Amino acid sequence: WFITVEGGEGAGKTTLIEGIASGLNKQGLRVVTTREPGGIPIAEQIRSIVLDQANTAMDARTEALLYAAARRQHLAEKVMPALAEGKMVICDRFVDSSLAYQGHARGLGLDEVWSINRFAIEGAMPDLTLLMDLSPEVGLARIHGASGREINRLDLEGLAFHELVREGYIKLLQREPERIVRIDAEQSAEKILNEALAIIIARFEG
Ligand code: C5P
Ligand code: MG
Repeated sequence: WFITVEGGEGAGKTTLIEGIASGLNKQGLRVVTTREPGGIPIAEQIRSIVLDQANTAMDARTEALLYAAARRQHLAEKVMPALAEGKMVICDRFVDSSLAYQGHARGLGLDEVWSINRFAIEGAMPDLTLLMDLSPEVGLARIHGASGREINRLDLEGLAFHELVREGYIKLLQREPERIVRIDAEQSAEKILNEALAIIIARFEG
């Protein structure tokens, strides 16, 4: 099974994925956790270009293409082989991030961004996507309170941009309510983890 976790800044995706993996490991499932952009060296190199604060001149289409390129390499080198071995893959961000950030918030359009991603992913869509939904005020406050987190190019965007990201994700949720499940990410980490595990188990058992 291929599961992705999506959401805006400070939603707690990384923490949730760690919790899901240890919960499922205890049940004897073989789980691979990974992240985008990154997860393997070539894609981590692309990540450092696309998130470098010095790259203020980056064009929105260049940005979209770099995310798609990183996605392709990560999928081909890591995700697809793991799925082929029968492992469950849980990925921090995937194509919905590109649709919400570059398609909706940057204004490139969902169809335009989808067209380059169709080429990149060749139909490898997640079986389930957990959308960690929270208000950007809450998310950004969490990030700014956290120590040791990398500051990136996106952190320079204002609240309005992050509101658009959230709006983009909600559009995607309305479009694909079967695949995408919303989780209230303003709840405690414990509640979020329990809810996520219940969703995964209900979907994939039996
Ligand atoms: O998930 P994580 O916080 O590691 O993501 C790294 C950064 O990349 C975030 O600031 C996120 O907003 C940004 N990003 C983006 N467009 C994407 C995927 C991630 O702007 N398609
Ligand atoms: Mg994270």
